[in-house]
Amino acid sequence: MQNFDLVILGGGPGGYPLAARMARKGWQVAIVDHASEFGGTCLNWGCIPTKALLASARSYHLLKNAADFGLSCSETSFDWPKILERKSKITLQLRQGIVKMLEKSGVTIFNGHGQLGKDRVIKVSRSDNTETIEIQAKKVCLAVGSIPAAPAVFPADRNIFWTSNEALNADKVPESLLVVGGGVIGIELGQVFAEFGSKVCVVEMMPQILPGLDNATAKRLLPVFKKAGLEVLVGKKVEALAATNGRATATIDGSTREFDKVLIAVGRRVNMSFLQNSDLEIETEKGFIKIDDHYMTSQSDVYAIGDAVKGPMLAHKASYDAMILAAQWQGKKLTADYSLVPSCVYTHPEIAWVGLNEEQLKERQIEYKTGRSMFSANGKALTAGEGDGQIKTLLSTDGKLLGAVIWGPEASNIINEATMMSQFGISNHDFSMMIHPHPTLSEAFMESVENASGEGVHG
Ligand SMILES: Cc1cc2nc3c(=O)[nH]c(=O)nc-3n(C[C@H](O)[C@H](O)[C@H](O)COP(=O)(O)OP(=O)(O)OC[C@H]3O[C@@H](n4cnc5c(N)ncnc54)[C@H](O)[C@@H]3O)c2cc1C
Repeated sequence: MQNFDLVILGGGPGGYPLAARMARKGWQVAIVDHASEFGGTCLNWGCIPTKALLASARSYHLLKNAADFGLSCSETSFDWPKILERKSKITLQLRQGIVKMLEKSGVTIFNGHGQLGKDRVIKVSRSDNTETIEIQAKKVCLAVGSIPAAPAVFPADRNIFWTSNEALNADKVPESLLVVGGGVIGIELGQVFAEFGSKVCVVEMMPQILPGLDNATAKRLLPVFKKAGLEVLVGKKVEALAATNGRATATIDGSTREFDKVLIAVGRRVNMSFLQNSDLEIETEKGFIKIDDHYMTSQSDVYAIGDAVKGPMLAHKASYDAMILAAQWQGKKLTADYSLVPSCVYTHPEIAWVGLNEEQLKERQIEYKTGRSMFSANGKALTAGEGDGQIKTLLSTDGKLLGAVIWGPEASNIINEATMMSQFGISNHDFSMMIHPHPTLSEAFMESVENASGEGVHG
């Protein structure tokens, strides 16, 4: 039986950076995942494929609205299979890059599914079913990620009732699509299909879309998404779903409606398949693998990171876990702090937020000042035809950033200014000394910070 210092189950944004870091430190490291799955959900079924489709959708939107830029384009159309092909090429390129990087770092790769047993023995069933081998490790890390959670009461026919996995590989754009769940995945994929002509209805049972986003922004975005072609119903429940003659019948708040397809986007659950047919037990807590401050599970020297453990289910959080765990193993006294994990929605307009929102500040009775700036007053945004949106910054009375919400162009990039300002405790006065190039979208962030203390020029 081959022995390693560390065996990692799962090659996603949690598992693969941990493997590379530790191998480069001289550890004997192995990683187990199916060959087609390196990069994990993020690369194969999540972040990257959705962003590839959103990029095609955005380009199509610009093409249809070429006249806004003084251009003419007499006929606009799209080729869905080519859009999917582009998406697959991107994921393949990135996947190959990860595998090469792991090999170069000295990581041993096992392609297959790992089952964890006692004494950190892992049975790897090869992807091609040719053989099962056993390996053992001093330490095991479960970076097994998550899979779509579809309630058992909903039909399981994935030809009609999609999860995000089926939506990302749909053979054509459906005429109508019901999206159950107004979270990030539902809204992003809803916008893709709406842009390509589907009649999309998003139903969210909570009073607002995008949980975690502040109420006011979530409300403000409803007409924005309506204009983008999405019918969004909040505070309404999809009570029942059934298949009728190859289509879906949905009962929404007592009324019946028909759709070609349904996307069930109500959340994800930890992939516990590593315990299939195993006699090992691992404690869970609220559906996640239970860990201590050092990512150790209820089994000694078995660790877990990423979507499998508490905290936001995001790729950058999984990679952060990997970084903290690697640092702890190298003797650094660090523990994870998720208070500044940025959340991003890559729709058009983009939405991003970090830190505390107004509701949370009020709840905690923290005094704050609000600064705002509008993209309609930002030169770069207007030249790009992106004048919709605003930045809201929330500052403490001594000028430290407590939280920020952005909706508008490149929100997912601009939010880094907010995270940096907060993380390093930069005061508003020091921040306004930082020279922002002109014209840029990030100037709008500086303006918002200055406006919070009444110092903004355009105020
Ligand atoms: C549609 C969609 C869009 C998303 N968009 C974003 C986004 O824009 N930004 C963002 O930050 N996050 C996004 N996410 C979330 C993001 O994909 C996850 O948070 C991230 O992938 C979690 O990383 P991970 O390493 O913990 O797990 P995963 O990426 O899920 O990787 C786990 C890996 O483990 C493997 N595995 C599981 N069990 C075993 C086993 N027993 N043996 C061997 N291998 C195993 C799986 O095959 C998988 O490759 C999105 C998710 C979805 C579904």
